[in-house]
Amino acid sequence: MSNTISVACCGPRKGENQHSMNAYDVVDPATETVVATVEAATPHEIATSVDRAAAAFSSWSTTAPRARAELLHRAFQAVRSRRDDLAETIVRENGKPIAEARGEVDYAAEFLRWFAEEAVRMEGGNLRAPSGSGRILTLPEPIGVALLITPWNFPLAMLARKIAPALAAGCTVVAKPAEATPLTALRLVEVLRDVGLPEGVVELIVTDDPGSAVGQVLADSRVRKLSFTGSTEVGRMLLQQAADRVLDCSMELGGNAPFVVFADADLDAAVAGAMVAKMRHNAQACTAANRFYVESPVAKEFARRLSLAMAGLALGRGLDPTTTLGPLIDAEARDRSERLTQIAVDAGASVLTGGRRPPHLDTGYFFEPTVVTGVRHGDVLGSSEIFGPIAPVISFDPEDDVIGWANDVDQGLVSYVYTADLGRAMDFASRSEVGMVGINRGTVSDPAAPFGGAKQSGLGREGGHEGLLAYCETKYISVDW
Ligand code: ADP
Repeated sequence: MSNTISVACCGPRKGENQHSMNAYDVVDPATETVVATVEAATPHEIATSVDRAAAAFSSWSTTAPRARAELLHRAFQAVRSRRDDLAETIVRENGKPIAEARGEVDYAAEFLRWFAEEAVRMEGGNLRAPSGSGRILTLPEPIGVALLITPWNFPLAMLARKIAPALAAGCTVVAKPAEATPLTALRLVEVLRDVGLPEGVVELIVTDDPGSAVGQVLADSRVRKLSFTGSTEVGRMLLQQAADRVLDCSMELGGNAPFVVFADADLDAAVAGAMVAKMRHNAQACTAANRFYVESPVAKEFARRLSLAMAGLALGRGLDPTTTLGPLIDAEARDRSERLTQIAVDAGASVLTGGRRPPHLDTGYFFEPTVVTGVRHGDVLGSSEIFGPIAPVISFDPEDDVIGWANDVDQGLVSYVYTADLGRAMDFASRSEVGMVGINRGTVSDPAAPFGGAKQSGLGREGGHEGLLAYCETKYISVDW
C-alpha cells in the first residue's frame, strides 16, 4: 500500500494548506479545519494495487477456510480492542457523535465476527439428476478480485461489511473509500495487516478523483466483482460501466424510507423509534426515515413529541461527549437541508422546530434538527431523499392509501411501521416494495441479516449468508460415478 498521510491535530482552515500535486486535505466537518493530508494514488500505483490483489488471489482462495476464519476472528478482536482510536478517527473525518462512532466500530467488528463464522460454511449441493443419469454437484467458489467502493457516512462499517465476506469467500480486494473519509479505511487496513493479513489480499486506493480511479480498475479484466455503496446516481453510472465487462455487481444505493404511524401505536415508542430511524449518524444513513406518515388522530401529538425530542438534541463537535448531533458532511449537504426546508415553507408547511443553521455555531456544516408539518404526500420534501436532519410529518386519514404513498417512490430500501395490530403490520410489510421492513423498530441493521433494497435501491444483499454468496460463483459439475 502506497498511501501516506500526515495528520494534523489542529490543522489550517480548509483551502489554506500547501501540499504536493497528488495530495489532498481531509476536512473535519465540525470545524472546517484540515485533519490530515493524504496522498492520492497515481494511475501507476492503482495498477500496482490491482497487480498485487490479482497475484494474491491464487494463494488466498486456496487458503484453508479455517485459516481465513481465524484471521477474520483476530481482526474482530483487534477492531474491538482499538475501539476508541477507530471511533475518534471516524469522528474527525465524518463528524458523528463519539458514542455513535463507537457504535459503528462495534457494528463493523460484528461483520468481521459473523463472516469469520461464515467462512467455514461455504456449502455446495449434491443432487441426483431427475433423469437418473448422473449427479448434479454445486460448489461455491470465490469469484476473484473484488472492487469495493464505500461511502463516507459509515466509513468503517461499510468497508467491514464488504471486506469481511470477500475475504471469507476467498476473494482478494481492491477497496476505494470515499474521498472525504480515507483515514478510517487506512486504520482498518492497518488492523488487518497487524493480525497477519498476507500481502495483496486487501489493497486500498485513496483518491479524490474517484471517476478515473474506479474507471481504471473496472477496465482491468482481472477484476471480477464490483460491490458499491453510495448514491443511486453514481451506482447507475457504475452499472453502465460494469456492463462493458459483464461484471458481477452488488449495489447498495439510495433509500427514501417511509415511517408510518397508525393511531393505535404506542406513541412514545414511535417517537423513540423515529429519532433512531431519522437521526442516527447525523441523519445521513441510507436507511434514514425520510417521510413520516402519521394517522390524523395522533399526527399533531406525534409531531409535538418528535419536536420536543429533536429540540433536545445537543449540536456540536462529535468529540465532545455531550454532543448528540454533529454536522453534515459538507457545505453542500448543509445547503441542501436549508434549501429543502425553504421549499417546504414556501409551499405552506410550518416549521415546528429548527429549520436553520444554528446561530451559536459559526464554523462547521451544522443544521438544526427540524420538524416540518403541513407537508403533503408528493411535495418536494415528502418525496426527495433528504439526507439531513429534517422530519416532514404528513397526516393521513383511514381512507388514504398510505401503503400506496409509501411505495410511491423509485427507491425501495426499507420501510418502518408502528402499530399495535400485528396483522396490519404484517400486511404493511408484505405490501411494502422494499428489501427490509422495521415493525415497531427504528433500526433494521444486523450483520446476520440480509441488508439490501428493492427497485432502484440496489441489487443483492450484504450480511447474513447471502452476503457471503455475493462473492461466490456457483460451479456446477455434472458427474457419473
Ligand atoms: P454520496 O452522494 O453519498 O457522497 P456517492 O455515490 O457520491 O455518494 O459516493 C459513494 C462512493 O462512490 C464514494 O466512494 C465516492 O468516491 C464514489 N464515487 C463518486 N463518484 C464516482 C464516480 N464517478 N465513479 C466511481 N465512484 C464514484
